[in-house]
Amino acid sequence: MGKLGRRQLLAGAGAAALLGALDACGVGSFQTKRQSIPPALQLVPVRASTDRITRITVCTRPFRAAGPRLDVERVGSKLIVHNYGHGGSGWSLSWGSSSIAVQKAMANGDRDIAVIGCGALGLTSALLLQRAGARVTIYAKELPPNVRSSQATGLWTPDSRICFEQYATPEFRQLWERMARRSFATYQTLLGLPAEPVEFIDVYFVSDRASTGRRLPPGDPRPRFAELQPELIGDLIPRSEEFAPGSHSLGARYLRRNPLMMFNLTAYTRMLMSDFLAAGGRIEIDEFHTPAEMARVREKTLINATGYGARALFDDASVIPVRGQLARTIPEPQLNYGLIYKGVAFVPRRDGLVFQIIGENDYYGFNDESAVPDRAEAELAVNTIAGLFSPAGRR
Ligand SMILES: Cc1cc2nc3c(=O)[nH]c(=O)nc-3n(C[C@H](O)[C@H](O)[C@H](O)COP(=O)(O)OP(=O)(O)OC[C@H]3O[C@@H](n4cnc5c(N)ncnc54)[C@H](O)[C@@H]3O)c2cc1C
Repeated sequence: MGKLGRRQLLAGAGAAALLGALDACGVGSFQTKRQSIPPALQLVPVRASTDRITRITVCTRPFRAAGPRLDVERVGSKLIVHNYGHGGSGWSLSWGSSSIAVQKAMANGDRDIAVIGCGALGLTSALLLQRAGARVTIYAKELPPNVRSSQATGLWTPDSRICFEQYATPEFRQLWERMARRSFATYQTLLGLPAEPVEFIDVYFVSDRASTGRRLPPGDPRPRFAELQPELIGDLIPRSEEFAPGSHSLGARYLRRNPLMMFNLTAYTRMLMSDFLAAGGRIEIDEFHTPAEMARVREKTLINATGYGARALFDDASVIPVRGQLARTIPEPQLNYGLIYKGVAFVPRRDGLVFQIIGENDYYGFNDESAVPDRAEAELAVNTIAGLFSPAGRR
């Protein structure tokens, strides 16, 4: 089915407007046989089935209570600009965070710069350095698709586990807003490309009750994660739309629809890698066990984009692992909407549908560095979404 066709089938507002228009033109049988009127919003069913699972991956988000580390440190003869610790926002903030790191790295006039790491932050740092006129070598233990960034969900989530509320000072808010706006603007230039590295989808927050949220319950003594989007970049967030039971095809549930950017990470990462190589970038596979080992790198200025790896490399215990597991199933190109339901996220990535337990709040997986795939967790995620489309679930 062509893109226009599938968009028309799925688009709630579009479909509602279309049916409304037909009604206004006097399509009489819709008026008289009330029970046969299909709900305005028809969501193409997801083939959510555990036998379609092709891969289960686990990775750890590099969370820091005080937010990403972006300071400059001298180690022996090297100047190291840190660019790590972006929690669940690494892809979303990458262009903005890396632009700050690049500015710092090039401030002393050096034009031969090393980037340590080849994930979201390393690749965007390397590309921005090239665009600013630097010659760049990436040194990394692993390359995509074997980096943690390649195991992310792939949504625009710029304040996901970015810091604890108590550390969201006015200075931090200003920095975060700068990173988020710069990233958002850059992502708009990556829409509409072949293989769709970046696209907008609709995400439906589905609930059995009228109101729901992922906040900690009142009285929970644990620190709150900062929520920055509504206050600081509210103008970039499209208005959400509500669908009451009966107005959609998911039974007696409440839906809230939000357009959201999605990153098709296989195509997107390949594009970043080829752009870097096409601009003369070099890559060397190398692993550093201590900061002092970076002395062997030719360049004098380095951007450290080692993500969770910085915890061991820089002995930085402030990097806390937040485990997340994705179950991928066979791609279904006709799907272009996501779902969040009962603590499970479904994302219609072009490189494989993603099903993930996200839990009741952002403490799910907190301080858990286990990288072992859990098949039962994967099946629970798939079956929860399947429940929305089963005959019983649609009632
Ligand atoms: C389940 C899950 C879902 C997520 N979903 C999203 C999302 O939807 N949107 C979003 O914006 N973010 C998301 N994130 C967060 C995002 O994935 C991370 O913030 C981001 O990947 C961090 O990127 P990075 O480049 O800092 O680190 P990495 O991707 O870990 O890259 C680090 C690089 O450094 C190299 N390296 C590390 N240590 C060394 C060493 N000692 N020597 C040499 N090289 C080294 C590695 O080999 C690698 O190349 C998610 C994370 C998880 C776990």
